[in-house]
Amino acid sequence: MSGIFDTHAHYDDEKFDEDRNALLSSLPSKGVELVMNCATNPASIQSTLALAETFEFIYAAIGFHPEDLIGLTLSDLDKLKDLAQTCSKVKAIGEIGLDYYWKEVPREMQLPFFEAQIELAKALNLPVIVHDREAHEDTYALLRKHKPQGVLHCYSGSAESAKEILDNGMYIGIGGALTFKNAKKIVKVAEVVPLERILLETDAPYMAPVPMRGKRNDSSLIVYVAQALAEIKGISTQEVIATCTQNSKDLFRIDK
Ligand SMILES: [Zn+2]
Repeated sequence: MSGIFDTHAHYDDEKFDEDRNALLSSLPSKGVELVMNCATNPASIQSTLALAETFEFIYAAIGFHPEDLIGLTLSDLDKLKDLAQTCSKVKAIGEIGLDYYWKEVPREMQLPFFEAQIELAKALNLPVIVHDREAHEDTYALLRKHKPQGVLHCYSGSAESAKEILDNGMYIGIGGALTFKNAKKIVKVAEVVPLERILLETDAPYMAPVPMRGKRNDSSLIVYVAQALAEIKGISTQEVIATCTQNSKDLFRIDK
């Protein structure tokens, strides 16, 4: 396999502390062409930008994740704006969104941060990378209101809701969950969403696909997700990878 674009990874995560550089250096030889590293908080933004500076094939999404908002104020978004405008490898605002599964950050705090970051992305003409966990209704309401370009990462909604996402012009991010034994909902989504609107992702170090489920994930394992998608679509794995990589380059405006 070649030409893999992993549109969602967290290589700044401490699970990569022991062998980060060795692992990242090995990815191109395993078919990985491009990686979007998604930051989640101020420290992770710094690490993400450093990775993008060190590794030619790594791009940066910068943003404040809904689980990482404690201690931040909306004025911290000014820093995002400065970085996005000065660093040419910043290609998206993310990972942003809503998470009603974890209760540490109140919804009243998550909602204004999500909305302000969508508005910032639109002002900067950048796509958004959206996290939505058990918050479909509020997430879609804000996307409907602002209609940003972007991707619903690790999509967990219904096939019906996926149509609305597509109608709004956004992409659907599909990762390891597609290979899980209990993956009925996301299989249905993968059946109805045209390949031209799907992005492949790992969410590394999390969400490793079968047969590596439970282990640490990395971008080379995306091939198992592509295989599962290829079976559903009735085409070759390489074709899935090629199309999804093109979709990703279009969305993030990376021409190489
Ligand atoms: Zn993530």
